[in-house]
Amino acid sequence: MRVAIIGSGYVGLVTGTCLAEIGHNVICVDNNTAKVEMLKKGKIPIYEPGLDVLIKKNVEAGRLGFSPDIKDSVRAAEVVFIAVGTPPKEDGSADLSYVENVAKQIAESLDSYKVVVEKSTVPVETGDKVRKTIKLYNKNNIPFDVVSNPEFLKEGSAIEDFMRPDRIVIGVETKKAEKVMRELYKPIPTQMIVTDIKSAEIIKHASNSFLATKISFINAVANVCEKTGADIKKVAEGMGSDSRIGPKFLSAGIGYGGSCFPKDVDAFVKISESVGYDFKLLKEVQAINKAQRTHFIKKIHESLWVPKDKKIAVWGLSFKPNTDDMREAPSIDVIKHLQKEGAKITAYCPGAMEKAREIFSSLDYANDKYEALKDADALVILTEWDEFKNADLGHLKSLMRNPLILDARNLYEPEEMRKAGFEYRCIGRGSKG
Ligand code: NAD
Repeated sequence: MRVAIIGSGYVGLVTGTCLAEIGHNVICVDNNTAKVEMLKKGKIPIYEPGLDVLIKKNVEAGRLGFSPDIKDSVRAAEVVFIAVGTPPKEDGSADLSYVENVAKQIAESLDSYKVVVEKSTVPVETGDKVRKTIKLYNKNNIPFDVVSNPEFLKEGSAIEDFMRPDRIVIGVETKKAEKVMRELYKPIPTQMIVTDIKSAEIIKHASNSFLATKISFINAVANVCEKTGADIKKVAEGMGSDSRIGPKFLSAGIGYGGSCFPKDVDAFVKISESVGYDFKLLKEVQAINKAQRTHFIKKIHESLWVPKDKKIAVWGLSFKPNTDDMREAPSIDVIKHLQKEGAKITAYCPGAMEKAREIFSSLDYANDKYEALKDADALVILTEWDEFKNADLGHLKSLMRNPLILDARNLYEPEEMRKAGFEYRCIGRGSKG
């Protein structure tokens, strides 16, 4: 099939590339012309494992292309995906101006029947608004269908998630659109859940809000563990081995970040409010998440006493491992706080240092994890990249001025760290951590 993807960010680029990989002819469109030029030259604007190889393969096979031109791309396509950002506004609700803008441009480009697919994460009832907008600007009354097809990929394993998803959700209004979507995803071996558009929209917000709830829940339990001497790792293991609960999203830490959970929980709270439901549970999830960052910063203060002029090494800047995404990363709050207190920070991150340069006006970066530690008064670990898990502890200790580690991701065993001569503080490991 011929597919146009409007918005070539994390989701658009992965969606377009994977659809090309399963045999479709795809054009990825973006109004950021620099990004399009980069892609045309074979450079990939984001860090996503395996994406570069797949893009190259599909461009060479003639199934994948890039363009700044929405009109021609829409006209050439049977299916048009909207994959632009839906960032949070100041009040927490989703900013849908990019979606509206694209819907309008699609309408003005229509010359034959198209299926217009909402891929961006949007509040319930956006499908209605997209349909109305397209009708309004569709001067020649060309037929079209709107479909909701929320995306569940995770940055860092996006290709695998797209190719082998737990399910594909489509919200449709007509049999014709359902048939097109079934045909499009036919090569992907998974169950397809077909709903109305509003239910599909809510599935996405409810899923992310549920996962965020799981994270805040385990962080709340971690606080009780800290105060009682229990060990959150053991508690999570005991809970997670119950198949009704499951082990995923039960890692206590500094709380969730990234471009999705914070904004999607905020948006879901706002939508619920707008239809007259006060989603108090999710408000508490937000509050626990915020408090978790403050709690960790407090720990740094307790251990370091006065941060001013102390040399602090930071490992991990991205909001999670295997991505360069810095949106809502806990590292931003922690580093900005410590800089305000006068600490001297040297950071190292395997994936996000380039993106971090756009955020921090002054921050020293190291070339590798050990270089960051030279004469450090403390090491603060903020993202659980694999390369931090296998660090040479002896070497690490020899480089630091003071062997103090504040670990927001529970990478190490407290007993082993103590034996190795470190003062080691982590999350929810009671008297041990
Ligand atoms: P992103 O910011 O990386 O990409 C959005 C792209 O859209 C940008 O490249 C931007 O230049 C482009 N764009 C904006 N307006 C445009 C226009 N008028 N015409 C053409 N291009 C335009 O965002 P993302 O992370 O890919 O997220 C996109 C959507 O997918 C969001 O709604 C997000 O919530 C959702 N989502 C994201 C993830 C994720 O892990 N990143 C996962 C699932 C769903």
